[in-house]
Amino acid sequence: MKELYQELGISEPVYSYGAKVEQSLQERFAEIDETAEYNQLKVLKAMQKHRVSAECFMATNGYGYNDLGRDTLEEVYASCFGAEAALVRPQITCGTHALALALMSNLRPGDELLSPVGKPYDTLEEVIGIRPSKGSLAEYNISYRQVDLLSDGSFDYEGIRAALNEKTKLVTIQRSKGYQTRPSLSVARIRELIGFIKKIKPDVLVMVDNCYGEFVERTEPVEAGADLMVGSLIKNPGGGLAPIGGYLVGKRECIEQAACRLTSPGLGKEVGASLGVIQSFYQGLFLAPTVTAGALKSAIFAANIYEKLGFPVIPTGAEPRHDIIQAVTLRSPERLIAFCKGIQAAAPVDSHVTPEPWDMPGYDSPVIMAAGAFVQGSSIELSADGPLREPYAVYFQGGLTWYHGKLGILMSLQKLYEEGLVELA
Ligand SMILES: *Cc1c(COP(=O)(O)O)cnc(C)c1O
Repeated sequence: MKELYQELGISEPVYSYGAKVEQSLQERFAEIDETAEYNQLKVLKAMQKHRVSAECFMATNGYGYNDLGRDTLEEVYASCFGAEAALVRPQITCGTHALALALMSNLRPGDELLSPVGKPYDTLEEVIGIRPSKGSLAEYNISYRQVDLLSDGSFDYEGIRAALNEKTKLVTIQRSKGYQTRPSLSVARIRELIGFIKKIKPDVLVMVDNCYGEFVERTEPVEAGADLMVGSLIKNPGGGLAPIGGYLVGKRECIEQAACRLTSPGLGKEVGASLGVIQSFYQGLFLAPTVTAGALKSAIFAANIYEKLGFPVIPTGAEPRHDIIQAVTLRSPERLIAFCKGIQAAAPVDSHVTPEPWDMPGYDSPVIMAAGAFVQGSSIELSADGPLREPYAVYFQGGLTWYHGKLGILMSLQKLYEEGLVELA
């Protein structure tokens, strides 16, 4: 084994350092495996209940009327996540699209949207109109209010109470911290927050942005009282196999609204051919619990490796996890670049290319990204990125298998070590 690692470029000191850290994580890993086992059974139960069969994998085209595979998959998603209904489509192009669809279809002019957990994910700023943009909610006279988390990460209950008003129609809660430093939310905390909000305003709709959160815990936000839960199929629930897509699950009425917006009023869920991709949606969902477990182990391994070397990590090595993202503050541009080079060098695709910082549209400093993925931009696959500015934090996520995640992190450490940017104790 060690020899093979060496042939791949991992030196003896890095290998030994990693082995020590891995040894200390066996208990955590066993817990993650148990959650994966639970969620695997949940997925299987839903597939069996809805009698998934070979006919479901047939490609449809044209209008896609009576698409058995599509309709059955939506029932499987609804059952698996404890919801009344689901919309799971290749016509939903990404996570942002799925979230925009949920918002634009369930809000009407004059309504107000509230985020009680601070600033939403970057791409949603233009959907909402926080940054002016064509077709934003703001252009349709849908207003927005935000209540930030308190400095210790807790909910500002008094602020939320004051922000809820007669116009508030929908509350959006982002589970994952995304690229911020606030804590990610557990399903238990989401349950508490929804309970508080519904007590004040029982008819308000609650949507959870569930990106990066699926299958990390045993329950999902719909089971904690959310009316709608939304995510991307090129993250956790696509299991690395879905080549495109997004999902919405929740109350039947909310899903109907979204379907009528995605296709057309009067057509709703009845049209939308699944072309040839539906089998990968099924297979991806089937693998998603174990794939998510691999990504979680990789994140925890990275946290522990870099924490022991003295770098600040969010979450910490010992904290419970509510999503698959790991931030590591590397404190210098050289380290950030070396880290990303290591992730790239460990990839199954494009391992021979070298990532370089570039001026990405919308960012005020150059950004470096590492990804050698089968699906472009897929972040359930091993990937890392970070802006070249203080404090030089890298955001790291994914890994379709734990073994690949492990190699990626060891390779990142190898690059730092080779360039003398870190000392192994
Ligand atoms: C990834 C992500 C999104 C947007 O998804 P895209 O597929 O990149 O459009 C939205 N919210 C959160 C929390 C995310 O992690």
